[in-house]
Amino acid sequence: LNSRLAEFTSTIFAEMSALAAGTGAINLGQGFPDTDGPEAVREAAVRAIRDGRGNQYPPGPGVPELRQAIADHQRRFYGLEFDPDTEVLVTAGATEAIAAAMLALLEPGDEVIALEPYYDSYAACIALAGARRVPVTLRPHAGAYHLDPDELRAAITPRTRLLLLNTPHNPTGTVLTRAELAAVAELAVEHDLLVVTDEVYEHLVFDGAHLPPASFPGMRERTVGISSAGKTFSLTGWKVGWVTAPPELLAAVRSAKQYLTFVSAGPFQYAVAEALALPDAYYEGQREELRAKRDLLSAGLADAGFAVYRPAGTYFVTTDIRPLGEKDGLAFCRALPTRCGVVAVPTAVFYDDQEAGAPFVRFAFCKKDEVLREAAARLRAPA
Ligand code: PMP
Ligand code: GLN
Repeated sequence: LNSRLAEFTSTIFAEMSALAAGTGAINLGQGFPDTDGPEAVREAAVRAIRDGRGNQYPPGPGVPELRQAIADHQRRFYGLEFDPDTEVLVTAGATEAIAAAMLALLEPGDEVIALEPYYDSYAACIALAGARRVPVTLRPHAGAYHLDPDELRAAITPRTRLLLLNTPHNPTGTVLTRAELAAVAELAVEHDLLVVTDEVYEHLVFDGAHLPPASFPGMRERTVGISSAGKTFSLTGWKVGWVTAPPELLAAVRSAKQYLTFVSAGPFQYAVAEALALPDAYYEGQREELRAKRDLLSAGLADAGFAVYRPAGTYFVTTDIRPLGEKDGLAFCRALPTRCGVVAVPTAVFYDDQEAGAPFVRFAFCKKDEVLREAAARLRAPA
């Protein structure tokens, strides 16, 4: 393994899902729903395969139907205009979009500011590009996490090339506010930074609203927006993601994508095009269902003695284990499956500042109600 990747041997999701499989514990670690997305959308994929649409290499940037649907979705929900031919790219999940963006936009030695705790692929992709990550920590207070614009300003140096934002934010469930994003936008414009935004949880917002960073003044021309069908349509195995960006930035990301996967799986693209056009009732229904699950698991975890950060978005709830007399989230999560048959993820692995992250543990609530109830019962009364 080369020196760039040496610190990234295996992901916490692989470790914890293997632990879940090995012990038969309830897996509230890796974030994936235990109910598949809309039947009509799954049928659309079957139909595409049967009708011979996308069974051979589709066009590199994505099939036109999906690129059009992505542009329509940006207009419908955010009033943002993108040209489907020059400003939209289909990728193999948001994961490939993140990798392609980092590889295309960074020079070795560039600094990338990312919100900490950060999703694990950010650190690895920044390293693959030979760049350096500079974390700006979201600080918990009053039951929620906040971005301090002064900390962000202080992290910017002449080497800073890019801000990597994630809202709604994994793992904390934070939805960046209008004021926070306005401050970010001002700094990005002032220092002429590129901004890459991971918005895969854009439709999973329970309090407040998702504001795409590209909608702020001076941002449209410097922002590479990333999203994915996985969370919005409960189809994480399909790996259909996308990028929206001004033509020059999009062309750069497309160049990198060409040599990573060349193209993304064809039939799923036609189905996701149909999914994006689902009526508002679908999006609202999914949000309300997850809101109820958030409340159910948050209450269960509080009952079990955790301090709970009720998330404004995503399908993760972060807890502090110190009220349980524990302080090491990694040790806690490694012991939890045998202790009470539940798997969770220690958020310390998403921090450079190990001390700041140590006592936090993330639980996923994209599971059936009875599974969440059973998990809460087990956590309340460990064997
Ligand atoms: N970004 C974030 C913040 C995520 O939580 C995930 C995981 N689902 C991804 C990107 C990856 O998305 P995809 O499965 O579409 O590659
Ligand atoms: N994004 C999901 C999570 O945070 C899982 C993705 C993965 O397994 N890499 O749990």
